[in-house]
Amino acid sequence: MNVRPNSPAARDIAHHLHPYTNWRRHEADGPLIINSGKGIYVQDDQGKEYIEGMAGLWCTSLGFGEERLVQAAAEQMRKLPYYHAFAHKSHNPGIDLAERLADMTPGDLNHVFFANSGSEANDTVVKFVWYFNNALGRPEKKKIISRIKGYHGVTVASASMTGLPNNHRDFDLPIANILHTECPHYYRFGQEGETEDAFATRMADALEAKILEEGPETVAAFIGEPVMGAGGVIVPPRTYWKKIQAVCRKYDILVIADEVICGFGRTGEMFGSQTFEIQPDIMVVAKQLSSAYLPISAVIISDKVYDALADNSAKIGTFGHGYTYSGHPVAAAVAVETLKIYEERDILSHVKAVAPLFQEGLRKFADHPHVGEVRGVGLVGAVELVADKTTKASFDPAGPVGVQLDKRAIANGVILRNIVDSLAFCPPLIITDKQIKELFDRFGKALDETE
Ligand code: PLP
Repeated sequence: MNVRPNSPAARDIAHHLHPYTNWRRHEADGPLIINSGKGIYVQDDQGKEYIEGMAGLWCTSLGFGEERLVQAAAEQMRKLPYYHAFAHKSHNPGIDLAERLADMTPGDLNHVFFANSGSEANDTVVKFVWYFNNALGRPEKKKIISRIKGYHGVTVASASMTGLPNNHRDFDLPIANILHTECPHYYRFGQEGETEDAFATRMADALEAKILEEGPETVAAFIGEPVMGAGGVIVPPRTYWKKIQAVCRKYDILVIADEVICGFGRTGEMFGSQTFEIQPDIMVVAKQLSSAYLPISAVIISDKVYDALADNSAKIGTFGHGYTYSGHPVAAAVAVETLKIYEERDILSHVKAVAPLFQEGLRKFADHPHVGEVRGVGLVGAVELVADKTTKASFDPAGPVGVQLDKRAIANGVILRNIVDSLAFCPPLIITDKQIKELFDRFGKALDETE
């Protein structure tokens, strides 16, 4: 890249440290600077337009330039730009949002703790789980099982639960008491002649074997994303989650659904837990909660978990956890408005209406010589590239084809996400039929140009 001295690109390279970026490659390639957005489109600083095929980072569900969210933020900023929720203080946006989430979420998930990101929320979950078992007088029941290729964030505890090598290697992670079980990716890990249901049983058996090996009295919780996102959009077999839930119930192990990506319609139901028909004890939401217009996340706990935590805080005095910005009133007001828009515009019916076209569009790429698997549910999906379709031999991690395809997609005006051998798609939920066709036209050109 030809970088002019003192240009925004040169200043970016000089001073701006980018998350999830190869820093030396960034010095050579420079940034893609996005200046504005409208609907599902964004524009770079040269005026080139792109379809945001990933809704940013799986989050701008209502697209860009949603005026009602801007208004909600401005009004709340004028009225009360900040207040907190420590030591019995409260404010109306926080109350409204907690009530709304308790209403929307399935079962007796009735109690809401706010944080600012998915990572913070998942760190909170780890602390809740440990505190819960201390409160119940079983301090040995502390292990949390997550999955290889699961993604739960990057703070120390959440990165430990994440099951991806780049989040552990050279960071001295995972921490103690965090274990990983099998990844339910049938295409990669299913055995010759095994049905999806038999594969799901094998995954649940593997979890049970791990629990027995560790001792059920030491295992506190299982955490997973209903559909794995950052691990490559891995949609488990339909029966997987119910089998996992049954194993957890058998050994009195909490089921935690990390709905940071799946929550609010992404999988075609309001929550991924509903798509896979499970009832978690704890649910984590973020991203689409505010359509990403401001950072906010939430941990929603069942009556059973709440009662144990509340009894313990009554015993020891104070529940010693919380963030300065837990339930920030401006972010909460934007989230309340986001949820209102979902309801008024019936976003769920819209997702159900356009999802078949989206899934069919993706599946049309299955015959391409570079494509090993196409997978997805609702408005999320991925195309996995292989070096050889028969042997499923993969390219080297982040190898030439994935990176090349990502670049070709950008050149053709669509922003996607390259995850090892897969390209992920997660467009804003407001995408129309016509725009879905446009998205796949642009991607198809990129794929055809890729060697
Ligand atoms: N959990 C899931 C399922 C995610 O996809 C992510 C982020 O992509 C996180 C947690 C972490 O969220 P954040 O990046 O807001 O910390």
